[in-house]
Amino acid sequence: MIAKPKGTIDIKGNDSIIWEYVNHVISNMMNSYNYEFIRTPIFEMSELFHRSVGESSDIVRKETYDFKDKGDRLITLRPEGTAGVVRSYIENKEYVLPDVKKYYYNGTMYRYERPQSGRLREFTQFGVEVLGSNDPIVDAEVISLQYRILESLGIENLQININSLGNNESRNNYREALVNYFKPHINELCDDCKERIKTNPLRILDCKVDADSSILKNAPKTIDYLNSESKKRFEEVLKYLDYLEIDYEVNPNIVRGLDYYDHTVFEIVSLDNDDSKNNVLGGGGRYNKLIKELDGPDSYGIGFACGIDRIVSLLKEMELYKNIKREIDVYVMYVSEEEKLYSLNIVQNLRLNGVVCETDNLNKGLKGQFKVADRLNAKYLIILNNEDLQKGLVTVKDNATKEEEKIDIDEITEYIIGSL
Ligand code: AMP
Repeated sequence: MIAKPKGTIDIKGNDSIIWEYVNHVISNMMNSYNYEFIRTPIFEMSELFHRSVGESSDIVRKETYDFKDKGDRLITLRPEGTAGVVRSYIENKEYVLPDVKKYYYNGTMYRYERPQSGRLREFTQFGVEVLGSNDPIVDAEVISLQYRILESLGIENLQININSLGNNESRNNYREALVNYFKPHINELCDDCKERIKTNPLRILDCKVDADSSILKNAPKTIDYLNSESKKRFEEVLKYLDYLEIDYEVNPNIVRGLDYYDHTVFEIVSLDNDDSKNNVLGGGGRYNKLIKELDGPDSYGIGFACGIDRIVSLLKEMELYKNIKREIDVYVMYVSEEEKLYSLNIVQNLRLNGVVCETDNLNKGLKGQFKVADRLNAKYLIILNNEDLQKGLVTVKDNATKEEEKIDIDEITEYIIGSL
């Protein structure tokens, strides 16, 4: 028997019902907010991630799936969604358009992580990228959209943790302050952090190993290093969130793991989930330097990403989603070959009219078919028999009340639609 690779899952059964529902809510909401669906390749040139996510990030240093294709090109399975969307924006010169581009994606990502609960090697994220505007109203829209999607799935006790890294000047001042602060303590931190102080000291703040150390907790805070322009911008974002009635907590420890962020950074957590490591459902931030970094013009971008696997796990715990059953509207039953021929047309017609319909696929007898219909939780049964068919009639049985009626075969679709 061949087992699935470590860190991957099959989405099926009840999980897939919830999964489809989550996708439905996401696409409806994205549509209302006027976001365009984009699908970029699952694999990209490795260089894209090295230059965007950053050489010093854990993702690129340790977690990417890299391989050479038959043409000797260095390829990487995407570990996140932003780089591909920004690459496409630049490659298709969309920055010349007069309007802001608002994209959303929903797809699998790949990171070679140590598999554990809430951490997979193949997982699914949905997210947005808004390109071409630096107006703080966009930051507020992106953050509120993430919040509203999770809220409309019924997730309660959501909290947004928000922070600002400020513009270049603020970030540089902060970086210097961090290096000065960590230098005398560096031997007390993990080996990765000893590296990070040289490559990207901000990253020490979200180190998973040293997370509980008082050295990290007492480190300088970004907020205290924002210059006046960055501070004003951050205050505007918060003001707009207030107007949108979105609850948030300014949390100076949120710095996010990737190289490309500046200004607003945020995470959304579910306080209902006791597992503090896995209660982060999503996060994002502004990345005004990234488009230029990837050979585009000086432009602006902001986005978020949320993990669908974690959302589905959380929903499964909730009463609301515990007893979801797959059910069908109609089960069509037949025995003889002649009845079978009638069934083909009846079933197809019902399906094309949006009625969820199933029929016998295993040549079972009537008794066996009644059992299948019950297992599928069919609301109605249509029972075909030669005698009725010759008179142009079929029997419809309401599977809840067990009442039967004979209906004209030409009116069966309308009758079912009217009864549902
Ligand atoms: P990140 O891109 O690391 O900021 O992650 C954003 C969200 O994606 C997280 O909050 C998780 O919900 C989800 N996520 C990230 N990595 C994983 C993983 N290895 N397994 C499952 N979900 C993940």
